[in-house]
Amino acid sequence: MKEQIAGRIEDLVQEAAPKRREKKEKPQLKESIYSLRLDELQAWLEEHGEKKFRAAQIYEWLYSKRVKTYDDMKNLPKSLREKLEENFLLTTLSTIIKQESKDGTIKFLFQLQDGYSIETVLMRHDYGNSICVTTQVGCRIGCTFCASTLGGLKRHLLAGEIVEQVVKVQQILDETEERVSSIVIMGIGEPFDNYDAMMNFLKIMNHDKGLHIGARHITVSTSGIVPKIYEFADEGMQINFAVSLHAPNQEARQKLMPIARAYKLEELLAAVKYYTEKTGRRVSFEYGLMSGENDSVEVANELATLIKGIKCHVNLIPINYVPERDYVRTSRSSIFAFEKALKARGVNVTIRREQGADIAAACGQLRAQERAEETK
Ligand code: SAH
Repeated sequence: MKEQIAGRIEDLVQEAAPKRREKKEKPQLKESIYSLRLDELQAWLEEHGEKKFRAAQIYEWLYSKRVKTYDDMKNLPKSLREKLEENFLLTTLSTIIKQESKDGTIKFLFQLQDGYSIETVLMRHDYGNSICVTTQVGCRIGCTFCASTLGGLKRHLLAGEIVEQVVKVQQILDETEERVSSIVIMGIGEPFDNYDAMMNFLKIMNHDKGLHIGARHITVSTSGIVPKIYEFADEGMQINFAVSLHAPNQEARQKLMPIARAYKLEELLAAVKYYTEKTGRRVSFEYGLMSGENDSVEVANELATLIKGIKCHVNLIPINYVPERDYVRTSRSSIFAFEKALKARGVNVTIRREQGADIAAACGQLRAQERAEETK
């Protein structure tokens, strides 16, 4: 059953990206020290003839003191520092672009060890600083309105490359004694398509010896990879969970999101219900409003009927215009009419506040602008 399901996403990828070029020989990636959970680091140390307690010391240098070189890890013997250096990169991201918006949002374009680039966004809210992280170089899900999927999937990020996005931004905030207080996994990529790395990322962020960010301050969003939703529900973490819905029925959804052909809306909602029942938590449905596509009051009513009985919240997203795509953002008045119709049906709904619109802050936009060769 599991293999069958795994096959479905592969089939989908073939369908969604028929023009994909043959994969070139990939450069071997060196592992990042930030990829390892504390228990994994302990095991690695023991396998390499070191004492287990060193793992907590290393974690403290990485996540509390946030040092930038192995040499700064003063209480480790030189031989261990050298061993770490030989086996793990401490820095895998270099900053190519750092753009600051009028509203304080900062967008980073980072270069990876193999030359690919990814985006990370720091958003300033009155309740704290939130960071939006990327999980893959590109994306193979193929949503027709999304910039991240232009050029398909290049590769998964290592867990450490996801972790380091937060560490890097935290190091910048350290200068003003500020903290990253919440995380959204809503940058480039489909986190449930890079599930194991995403889980390590979550565990490291959440761990009291890691960055110690509360699970309830972390949100993960999926386009709807059904078997992974079940797996995630069974993890027992109190992470906020969002599902990109974008349409009120199967036909409309599969037009916008090819993934809906692999995992039918009915199956998706069954998995979401399993999640809410298993965890006792509500799910957040993301709904991007596109003019003339999915934004009428009739559609709002259909949506309300579809999600009736599910413990949920709807987050309306005024769609960001992507030049390579055809969709146009719904007008303000239609957004409010849509919201009103949902409210009238008892749906819990909010409209996402926009940030960083002047610096191409929507997922994948900056990368598409700056690194056109990666997104073709
Ligand atoms: N792959 C995951 C997470 C990344 S995207 C997912 O699909 O959920 C985070 C959210 O931004 C998703 O809801 C996605 O559908 C939405 N999104 C994609 N392109 C957008 C655009 N052009 N404007 C507004 N939201 C967009």
